Amino acid sequence: MKCRKCGRQAVFNMRRHKLALCAEHYLEWFPEQVERAINKYKMFTHDDKVLVAVSGGKDSLTLWDVLLGLGYRAEGLYIGLGVDGGLGYSDLSLEKIEGFMATRPGAALHKVDIPESYGESVPEVAARTQRGRGKPCAVCGLIKRYVMNRAASEGNFDALATGHNLDDEAAVLFGNTLHWQVGYLARQAPVLEEQGDLARKVKPLCRLYEREAAAYALIKGIDYIYDECPHAVGSTTNRYKELLNELELDSPGAKLQFYLSFLKAKEQGLFQQAMEQVTLHPCENCGQPTTAPGLCTFCRLW
Ligand code: SF4
Ligand code: ZN
Ligand code: ZN
Repeated sequence: MKCRKCGRQAVFNMRRHKLALCAEHYLEWFPEQVERAINKYKMFTHDDKVLVAVSGGKDSLTLWDVLLGLGYRAEGLYIGLGVDGGLGYSDLSLEKIEGFMATRPGAALHKVDIPESYGESVPEVAARTQRGRGKPCAVCGLIKRYVMNRAASEGNFDALATGHNLDDEAAVLFGNTLHWQVGYLARQAPVLEEQGDLARKVKPLCRLYEREAAAYALIKGIDYIYDECPHAVGSTTNRYKELLNELELDSPGAKLQFYLSFLKAKEQGLFQQAMEQVTLHPCENCGQPTTAPGLCTFCRLW
């Protein structure tokens, strides 16, 4: 395979685009795609302050690297969940982030350590609550959303960026469609506009395949944590990803098509009713916006 741009040996081939590129041109192509998505969905501008949620994995570090490379004012947010899983998962993710920062002297990182700040790790709080029921992910999702929102609003960030890639989005879409979760479908988008104190949420990698993000990290020499969070093993989302991968194998571009057609249908008014804004008011304890009466779900959890 030869690079389409320069004819040198290609290092990466994207079947869905019928495009093969050498290392140098791949490192040009990928950020261009990210920037296109940022502009197309009006995620943020060069004047905005962007908080990037980083886990030490390939997607979030790739995203942060690309945003810094494109000259955006992107700062990192690391949330220490206190997950060990036999491999010191949380410690290892922080190590990878610190390694990343060591070669990018201007980069700023905000850290929130859950056990330190709230007295219990995510698996611990999950174990003692109804919501956890043996698997910490529901509790973890709630905690991460809360901490991200809070950090974004306290730090006056214009947008909160996460590293969700196309495979993630397609898998979530698949799950939401299987169960016709209209409320979730209405809120699944590359951009979720800010609502009062809730920061705008953006997913600049939403049109890029997981393997494309991984290829960028590898070619760029970003050292990331290869292991997934141990609690992700065997999750339904992973099962959906496998199913979608099978589809993709037979028809390259299937995942992208699935996701983009959904976005188009939404643009045309599907789920309009469900998109009507819910009313938010400040939590009695922490002041963060919530739909729940009295205390927000986070404060109730602790
Ligand atoms: Fe949290 Fe579950 Fe994701 Fe692990 S897999 S980071 S516990 S949501
Ligand atoms: Zn080339
Ligand atoms: Zn609260």
